[in-house]
Amino acid sequence: MLQLYIPLHFLGFVYREIKHSLADMEKMFNLLTENAEIEDKPEAEILNPESATISFNNVEFSYDLNRQILFGISFDIPAGRNIAIVGHSGSGKSTLPRLLFRFYDVQAGTISINQQDIRNVTQTSLRAAIGIVPQDTVLFNESIYYNIAYGRPDASDEEILNAARSAYIHDFIESLPNKYQTIVGERGLKLSGGEKQRIAIARAILKNPYIFIFDEATSALDSKSEKMIQAELRRIASNRTTLTIAHRLSTIVDADQILVMDQGHIIERGNHHQLLAKNGTYAHMWRLQQEENMMEAGSEIVNCP
Ligand code: ATP
Repeated sequence: MLQLYIPLHFLGFVYREIKHSLADMEKMFNLLTENAEIEDKPEAEILNPESATISFNNVEFSYDLNRQILFGISFDIPAGRNIAIVGHSGSGKSTLPRLLFRFYDVQAGTISINQQDIRNVTQTSLRAAIGIVPQDTVLFNESIYYNIAYGRPDASDEEILNAARSAYIHDFIESLPNKYQTIVGERGLKLSGGEKQRIAIARAILKNPYIFIFDEATSALDSKSEKMIQAELRRIASNRTTLTIAHRLSTIVDADQILVMDQGHIIERGNHHQLLAKNGTYAHMWRLQQEENMMEAGSEIVNCP
């Protein structure tokens, strides 16, 4: 396994680097259990993730003591529901899933899943329950097959191929000379952002977790592929508890609830229509993005030969 050939002294560095992004949280956890700064309690329980209801209750958090990042964050994601987080860059959106994945512990308040405080459950059971489709996927220098199967190492060939089909990447893989055995990653075939993202989606589909985190999961795709994959993601996440970090508001208009963050506070909450009616920050962001979309569409028309 990978643990055998990654020098241990390197792991601490990588852990610190990678835990700042959502990109490889799952990957790093599995590589670095020995090096994790967060430890299981001796009496830690196994998480019961079935029909997972997630609760953030008055969460306060800072990465370092000089600057508080989150202030009194409270929200629930009822089992099977979908919450989206929006807000300006640096408002604290990505910090929420980092805390849910327990890369860091909260300084005050609690995060619980089915009323089990995540500090009281084993990290293995917590992270097994969560599937992440990050913005930037970093692949292992291994075959495409390995990279997808990583979502669930005991999966059958058929399940792996089906996951690739659902992520619309199977035909592309089949077109490569070595098909699923093609080596990808830094020292292998360089894939486009969209292709990497589809592999991450296939991995998440295969893992079939109780909880999904999508970090603007389809950002690297062109708009036609994005629509197809958005539909597929909606299908696979339809009865799963889902947290989506969104930059483009058009991708989350159907969310059950949208939280608007600003400087570590939730400043608005509601569904798309309620937030538009409020005519506050969300409505303002929505109008700006609509204008940008129209300008982009206009410039495409002007640029057409
Ligand atoms: P973006 O939309 O740009 O991804 P975000 O809303 O997801 O931003 P976060 O990544 O949650 O924002 O970061 C919130 C704040 O925490 C930012 O000011 C950021 O600089 C700070 N921050 C993030 N990671 C760390 C870290 N590891 N150490 C110290 N500060 C950090």
